[in-house]
Amino acid sequence: MTRGFVHSPAPTRVVFGAGTVTAVAEEVRRLGGSRVLLVARARHAERVAAALGDLVVARFDGARMHTPVEVTAQALDVLKGAAADCVVAVGGGSTTGLAKALAVRTGVPQVILPTTYAGSEVTPVLGETENGRKTTRRSPDILPETVIYDVDLTLDLPVSITVPSAVNALAHAVEALYAPDANPAVDAVALQAIRGIARALPAVAANPSDVDARAELLEAAWLAGSCLAAVSMGLHHKLCHQLGGQFDLPHAETHTVMLPQVMAYKQNEAPEALARVAEALGVPDAAAGVFDLVRSLGGPTSLRELGLTESSLDGIEPASVLRAAWAGVRPDGVPDVSALTAQVIASFDD
Ligand code: NAD
Repeated sequence: MTRGFVHSPAPTRVVFGAGTVTAVAEEVRRLGGSRVLLVARARHAERVAAALGDLVVARFDGARMHTPVEVTAQALDVLKGAAADCVVAVGGGSTTGLAKALAVRTGVPQVILPTTYAGSEVTPVLGETENGRKTTRRSPDILPETVIYDVDLTLDLPVSITVPSAVNALAHAVEALYAPDANPAVDAVALQAIRGIARALPAVAANPSDVDARAELLEAAWLAGSCLAAVSMGLHHKLCHQLGGQFDLPHAETHTVMLPQVMAYKQNEAPEALARVAEALGVPDAAAGVFDLVRSLGGPTSLRELGLTESSLDGIEPASVLRAAWAGVRPDGVPDVSALTAQVIASFDD
């Protein structure tokens, strides 16, 4: 059957490399900016501020996860007080979220320097929280004009943050492959992202300052983010959004726990897509493979670990997925080879 589709890639300008932070002033000027509000995680602010020189007229260091509107209001006061005409953000998805929230309210252009693998920097999507409720909107005004990926900014990201953040990226690519509006260009990008994450994440976890592995992971995260921008996300993203908003759970960790469980649930509905995921990961079963990857790298595998009580999940569907995620049950598509090996070794000892 002929697959019809519409493909309209997001027009973000992407600068990728090592040491690319030095391009930030030129990128601001290219957008017509001359008065920069720097939104930053304190740790990286100095490097970016130094590269921007006297273009910086104000700084705001208070970005928080899930983009609370009261934080945006404070940053907006700073932006207006300084008459800033461009936002430069350096940090993870939380910092990017604040830059987007400012841009959609004022129309100022954005230059984003990501330090995690969240992928928000290439999407026209903004999630904001107000009174404990998270709402999401999509608009071309939200999409950052320019993204500068500088692998050097990611070298000090701790493994405990790297693993969940990379699985967050993996989730964008996995859900793109069974999206109702999937298309061949996005499929190819998603598979490339999955292969990159499968190869680079264990290498980064073994040696966090391995520049080549970090670069491959960052490149894969960009590709995964562009899938998130291009096609609709499914059950996994919906559940993570709901859980994150309702229980204020950490974003990337929630994705990490939920992804293998949702993949197992989707196996009957989207067997072909998940077979392609398994092939790209180099494992016999996609869901079990992701679970094993996370576990082997010390990432979270249960909602219980994230501090949730089982009863708080009552009423959230599909209940079977939530129960498995709460307990951290390994999806049993293919037997756990390492556990089996351990059993065999133990039987020799008997
Ligand atoms: P985050 O930005 O909160 O960063 C996670 C943690 O890592 C924080 O404690 C941060 O201080 C720390 N950190 C970041 N970079 C670091 C570095 N280089 N070294 C050391 N520590 C570092 O979390 P995130 O997972 O990057 O992003 C989550 C947020 O992004 C959520 O609010 C989520 O909703 C949003 N998001 C939005 C989209 C979208 O398209 N709209 C996509 C993905 C995520």
